[in-house]
Amino acid sequence: TTKDWQAADSAHFLHPFTDFASLAKKGSRIITKAEGIYLWDSEGHKILDAMSGLWCVNVGYGQQSLIDAATRQMKELPFYNAFFQTATPPAIELAELLAEVTPPQFKHVFYSSSGSESNDTIVRMVRRYWDVLGQPERQVIIGRHNGYHGSTMAGASLGGMSGMHAQGGLPIPNIVHIQQPYAFEHGKGMDPDAFGKLAASWLEEKILAVGPEKVAAFIGEPVQGAGGVIVPPKSYWPEIQRICDKYGILLVSDEVICGFGRTGNWFGCETMGSKPDLMTFAKGVTSGYVPLGGVMVGERVAKVLIEQGGEFNHGYTYSGHPVACAVAVANIKLIQQLKLVEHVREDVGPYLAEQFAGLRDHPLVGSVDTCGLMGAILLVKDKAKGLPFPGDLEVGMVCRGHCFGNGLIMRAVGDRMIIAPPLVMTRSQIDEMMALIRQALDLTLADVTS
Ligand code: PLP
Repeated sequence: TTKDWQAADSAHFLHPFTDFASLAKKGSRIITKAEGIYLWDSEGHKILDAMSGLWCVNVGYGQQSLIDAATRQMKELPFYNAFFQTATPPAIELAELLAEVTPPQFKHVFYSSSGSESNDTIVRMVRRYWDVLGQPERQVIIGRHNGYHGSTMAGASLGGMSGMHAQGGLPIPNIVHIQQPYAFEHGKGMDPDAFGKLAASWLEEKILAVGPEKVAAFIGEPVQGAGGVIVPPKSYWPEIQRICDKYGILLVSDEVICGFGRTGNWFGCETMGSKPDLMTFAKGVTSGYVPLGGVMVGERVAKVLIEQGGEFNHGYTYSGHPVACAVAVANIKLIQQLKLVEHVREDVGPYLAEQFAGLRDHPLVGSVDTCGLMGAILLVKDKAKGLPFPGDLEVGMVCRGHCFGNGLIMRAVGDRMIIAPPLVMTRSQIDEMMALIRQALDLTLADVTS
């Protein structure tokens, strides 16, 4: 029964990003099955999953071709590694397919099992690149406040989550941060184009403060996800690119959320107009069915590492895991077959943008943002003045509670309510989601005005 699950759960299972004591009091919601864009809990409630799990189930739940690929591969060869000049067919096939779907500068992949491991790999790989080129003083990597790049020591250091930095003595040395391009906080009333350029200029300021000869790379998510779906102005990324080029520093695009169709192109950097030297990915590469991540290594870096680098002393037991790679191949082929990237770009992405724009008339909604099939609704106290709610009211959490109670999973980042539903979502399912969102907003409004 649910109660038995909850008792065993709180007795033995330390959940990530969870207050252990509160979980023991309240008990977890136990999710038992899923199909398409829906989940069911152990009490039989049907829930629309507007977060694709953790931004990852791009093709939706229950796709038979992924299940078959895993089963076939487990029978044939459940594991072999890629160390010491060995390889398996699925790892090779996936490498070839990734070279086909990523931007043209990418021909090589280094595998991991998660986004965090991929971003850890970045720290070692970019420093190795500069070492090989005889510039070992280029150690500093610049990230952004409120960026999220994972939970390992290096991943959490590259990210700019203050709550994470407060635990465990982060960031590790030689990682620094600039402000995020969030107009509501840092560019109120500004023309978006001018704000994008201003926000990008903070990178140049930081490079000059650190000393250009010490900077190895800049890393950013095309659209900050866990930071609250912060969609930057159009001018931002081209300007970031220009600054990286000017100082010769490597540009790393963290595509863990934005990759594999989320923004209406295969990769978020294509939507945002940058040409990164390296890209990290995870999540959508297998639609979360099994863990897999990696780094796409652009020609600039690959040439140096391959021709002059010798052995790269780095790797994971599961780098190129054959079952994970077989599932990824099936997943990418399904994205191609269902034309999900086009579906997001030409159909459901613009439709979601229209529907979100329609929420602006709601008394709680201060602004809305969308990019492809991800979006955010900012809840504010006073629309006319653009005043936020006091933090201690936790209005986002109140709204999230009403979503959960109503059969909808939405995430709250402060007072930003965010979604990233499976890419297979249809227009009529968007209508269904919008009705649930409106209900949750009305219930939240009733709470804050009572
Ligand atoms: N990078 C981004 C942009 C993410 O959103 C995440 C996870 O949410 C990560 C990295 C870390 O990925 P993982 O949880 O697979 O380690």
